[in-house]
Amino acid sequence: MRSILIAGNWKMNTHLKEARALGSGLAKIQVPQGMEVLLAPPFPYLYPVGEEIKGTSLLLAGQNMNPADEGAQTGEVSAGMLKDLGASHVILGHSECRARGESSELIGEKLAQALKHDLVPILCVGESLEERQADQTIQVIEDQLKLGLGDLTHAQGLDRVIIAYEPIWAIGTGQVASPQEAEEVARDIRAYLAKNYGQDLAEKIQILYGGSMKGENAYELLSQDNIDGGLIGGASLKLESFLEIIEEGEKLA
Ligand code: PEP
Repeated sequence: MRSILIAGNWKMNTHLKEARALGSGLAKIQVPQGMEVLLAPPFPYLYPVGEEIKGTSLLLAGQNMNPADEGAQTGEVSAGMLKDLGASHVILGHSECRARGESSELIGEKLAQALKHDLVPILCVGESLEERQADQTIQVIEDQLKLGLGDLTHAQGLDRVIIAYEPIWAIGTGQVASPQEAEEVARDIRAYLAKNYGQDLAEKIQILYGGSMKGENAYELLSQDNIDGGLIGGASLKLESFLEIIEEGEKLA
């Protein structure tokens, strides 16, 4: 059975004091059985937040990374650096990174590099409002999956990949997808995985929903058959609102 993953993407928010406080607040909770809780602070706060959550089962993630091992890449961060700071996961292909020019091919390179360094990639996919209105949702997502996952095999760690379905129109807008809309796409993603990589792998992979998830809507979204967790932006920045989502997840774990 797939566990429920509640992941907080802090984006370029918090200052050191707040980041530490969020980390130490979360460190006090007992992560419920059948659940995982993950934090993705800004790069400079990975280490201090990691110190706050040391000894707990909370997981740490980078918000992005460069596909190279090292070198002349000003401003960039490598998979090895994320590992050094205690990250076990990395978010890749977030729509905000795609909007800054990241192609699906580049995201695919990053994904292979993450797996090579034993980081679990959370591959974000999602359609814009125009694409949804033009009935292109599934095509857009299949293209993102195809280029993001490429020719990876089980042996290269494909079974450890997590997919986050994040409709762009729902991110940071307060306009959450309905549980039916989210489930329909999550089901299609699982069907795509089954068709291309086999039923066993498709059953194993966690599919998250992201886009204006909060305490009030989390239960219905998380209770959908093909939704195994949430990737949360705004509501992960306040301890109380993030805890509310974890509590909703616990009812289903
Ligand atoms: C996100 O950025 O991944 C996200 C889902 O943001 P929000 O929860 O604020 O919509």
